[in-house]
Amino acid sequence: MPVDLHVWSIPLRTRFRGLTVRDGVVVRGDAGWGEFSPFWDYDDDESLAWWRAAREAADEGWPAPVRDRIPVNVTVPAVDGPAAHAIVTASGGCRTAKVKVAERGQSLSDEIARLEAVRDALGPTGAIRIDANAAWDVDSAVTRLAVLDRAAGGLEYAEQPVASVDELAALRRRTHVPIAADESIRRAQDPLAVARAHAADVVVLKVQPLGGVRACLDLAEAVGLPVVVSSALESSIGLAAGIALAAALPELPYACGLATAQLFTADLVTDPLLPQDGAIAVRRPVVDAALLAAVAAGDDLADRWRRRAAAVQARA
Ligand SMILES: [Mg+2]
Repeated sequence: MPVDLHVWSIPLRTRFRGLTVRDGVVVRGDAGWGEFSPFWDYDDDESLAWWRAAREAADEGWPAPVRDRIPVNVTVPAVDGPAAHAIVTASGGCRTAKVKVAERGQSLSDEIARLEAVRDALGPTGAIRIDANAAWDVDSAVTRLAVLDRAAGGLEYAEQPVASVDELAALRRRTHVPIAADESIRRAQDPLAVARAHAADVVVLKVQPLGGVRACLDLAEAVGLPVVVSSALESSIGLAAGIALAAALPELPYACGLATAQLFTADLVTDPLLPQDGAIAVRRPVVDAALLAAVAAGDDLADRWRRRAAAVQARA
C-alpha cells in the first residue's frame, strides 16, 4: 500500500552539524504522526531504523509516561563567547548547556572563551557538558578535558570525546570527567559493547537511529547505565518520540537534549516542543496543515525523499 509522505524542508537559525537547512518526511497513521528524517549521510540500511521509528509513532504510539516534564539542555553550537552567552540566556530557563567543541577551524582558545561565557550565563549552579563528536585521540582528549573542565568551572560529562569503544574505555581510566557515549551507541553494530567495556558513565539514546521508543527502552535496560535522550535535530513531530522515551524511562537523572526545536526557523505544529523553565511538558503535538504546506519541499527534494523512503521500505 502506498504511504502518504509529506516532505518538508526548514532553514535552521544557526549552522548545525554542517547543515543550514533540515529536511525530512512525516507520515500519518492510526496512532498519530511519525517522522522519518535520516541525515543524508545515512545509507538505506542505516535508515531502516529511522523508518521503524516513524512507523511505531504512526501505527502503534508509545508506552505510557511515568513523568510529565522533561528537563532539557540548551545546545550551544561552535559560536563565539558573546553568541554563546546570548543562546543560553534565551534558552527558556535551561539549567544545563551542551557545548559543541572540537569543531574544524576552531582553536582551544575559542573553546575556552565559549565555555567561560556559558558558565557566566548559567551561573555556578548550572551544568555544562561538552560534545566532541569523536574528534580527539586519547592523549589529546586527556589534555583537552583537563583544560576545558577548568574553563567550564566543572564539566558534567564529555560526550563521545574519542571514536571507538576501546578509546572511550582507555580515556575513562585517565580522566575524572565522566564520559558519555553517543556515536558508539547510535552507529554501532553492537550498542552493548560500551557497557561490557566499562567505556562510559552515561549513554545518549536517539529514537530514530535506534529504531523507536520501545527499542530504546529495551536497550536502556540492557545497557544498565543512566540515559540521556537526545534529538536527531527533528521537527516537533520527531521530537515528540524523544519526549515519549524520556517520559517512559524508569530513571531520568540528567537533562535531555530535546530542546532543538529552537534551532528551527519554522515547525510543523502550532505549539512546538519548546522548553519553559528548563523543561518540556510531556505531550504530543499534531501536524498543522497550513504550517506543513508552508514548509513543503520543492519537487526535486520531494522526489529524492520518495525514492529514499521506497528504497528503505524495500529493506523492511
Ligand atoms: Mg553527540
